[in-house]
Amino acid sequence: MANGDPADAGSAERKPVGLLVRLAYQSIEDFKRRFAPNLSRGGVFIRTREPKPAGTLVAFELRLSTGEKVMRGDGVVRSVVVEDLGATPPRVPGMAIQFTRLDAASRALVEEVASSRAALERTLSSPGMGTPLPGFTPVAAGLGSPPTLSRPLGTPVAVPTLSPTNVPGEAERDRPPRGEQLRRITGLFEIPLPSTPEPITRPSRAVIGIDLGTTNSSAAVVRDGRPYVIPSREGYRTIPSVVALPPRQTLVVGHLARAQLLSDPAGTINGAKRLLGRPFDSAIAAEMRGKFPYQIVADQDGLAAVRLGPLTVTIEQVAALILRAVKELAQNHLGEEVNRAVLTVPAYYNERQRQAMRTAAALAGLRVERILNEPTAAALAYAYGRHLQQRVLVYDLGGGTFDASVLELQDNIYEVVSTGGDAFLGGVDFDACLTRLLLRQYAEQVGVEFDGNPVALSRLTDAAERAKCALSERASFPVQLPFLAMHQGQPVTLETMLNRGEVEALVAPLVDRSIEVCREVLQAKGLTISDIDEVILVGGQSRMPLVHQKVAAFFGKPPARTVHPDEAVALGAALLAESLEGAEGVVLLSVTARD
Ligand code: AMP
Repeated sequence: MANGDPADAGSAERKPVGLLVRLAYQSIEDFKRRFAPNLSRGGVFIRTREPKPAGTLVAFELRLSTGEKVMRGDGVVRSVVVEDLGATPPRVPGMAIQFTRLDAASRALVEEVASSRAALERTLSSPGMGTPLPGFTPVAAGLGSPPTLSRPLGTPVAVPTLSPTNVPGEAERDRPPRGEQLRRITGLFEIPLPSTPEPITRPSRAVIGIDLGTTNSSAAVVRDGRPYVIPSREGYRTIPSVVALPPRQTLVVGHLARAQLLSDPAGTINGAKRLLGRPFDSAIAAEMRGKFPYQIVADQDGLAAVRLGPLTVTIEQVAALILRAVKELAQNHLGEEVNRAVLTVPAYYNERQRQAMRTAAALAGLRVERILNEPTAAALAYAYGRHLQQRVLVYDLGGGTFDASVLELQDNIYEVVSTGGDAFLGGVDFDACLTRLLLRQYAEQVGVEFDGNPVALSRLTDAAERAKCALSERASFPVQLPFLAMHQGQPVTLETMLNRGEVEALVAPLVDRSIEVCREVLQAKGLTISDIDEVILVGGQSRMPLVHQKVAAFFGKPPARTVHPDEAVALGAALLAESLEGAEGVVLLSVTARD
């Protein structure tokens, strides 16, 4: 080659070695989902204990366990990875092959897998996606970045021939038995499932405020009189409230778990806060079963729990895993142990749900200094230290839920007088509207309905959410999804321009629904809009300009501008924590529970 790379010297004269790789996957969809970390536009990583030396020319073919061909081409071995299970993260043995030629179908497949992974990686690296947990390193799949056991891997076996003969059982032969493999992996990486309260020997100096949200969670603290949300080392300010059990691995939490939502929705627990302290046979649990792909089961006390692979996980345990991730974030930032916290919960939580939150905290090694209602926390962030005499409405539109609460503030007394909401109204419903719009545009552009695989659909949903957030700042936003699907043997790229007006027309009924809830919450206490002095917007989805407009139109005044919608609840919790430590406390009065 012109670059004079020694690995290519004399390649014209050398004969390529035939390489037939049998993978353990049974379907092409499975291959796309699970083999993705091993594949890049430039090459493929083949896991094998008998790698060819660097520089070897290969003519390779990848097949499914059924014998079906998935990829075929030529390449050159660029590097060899020697197994090292003691490394952090551990290395699996294999070889990285750089493509020199691919047939057209293989090229399209590589393009599809690479661009869906790019979508995943954007998800991983986008601000607000939380911190990777120690020991879980995202793998940038491709040459020079050999995969580790920290991400799903295929289990390919390289055999030195291009013969079309099937080799039964080959895929299994090269790896340790499943139990052994799990043991090895868990020994190195385990995030144990918390099952007993973590003892607290010495209460920490620091008390943090924690907002355990349905979609995202965060922690805040007061330092030198200033409350702030604690950032991760990477600068993220929230951790996704997501727990997952990737195939053949142990639990992951936060943004790594959320990244898996696209490829393995059934093995990824999100939005589970709705189930905390609820019986398996409650209406909410029944509705969740219809809406979420993961399995919801009854635990031994008849409460809703979830299945993660072979594990039955209680919702307290799910919450504890998230709380522990938040606690670790705080410890890393403050450089000291943190085991005391003020926790927030929805105002309508009953005693059983509040107790479930306390149990989760104990499992995570946190002593609960106070349980605080979320709208009260938001009101604290708005009013703390201002000695206000006001009646405010907290409008909280998050990723999955909507809550509206009226509070009366009198100096340092905060009383929730009315609350209501919709446990299934939030940002994801807005995303679904945009996804449907993109699907319609696809059908118009291509002339047939979209029949893409789940990964392609996930890319669409991901693009829809990004466009939605971008449209809060600008009037139009381009969407481009290369190689989204195949049509008549040709890859299809979806290219379109979304504009704010058409999106607003689609989501307006959702915002109207939230306004309806506000009306009900006022009516429940015989209040009218003129009784409300200020409206406080909370939750990421409330950033949409249409929400501001409709709220302003309904209440006859613009919402308060001083409160940060994503941070208000955690900040309020931190302020209460601070006030508990000081002489002058804040008096908080609650409201009856809603079930
Ligand atoms: P939360 O549960 O409060 O973290 O809110 C998460 C939801 O807010 C997700 O559905 C996000 O897509 C949505 N969101 C975040 N930022 C924006 C934005 N700038 N415009 C519209 N929605 C947003």
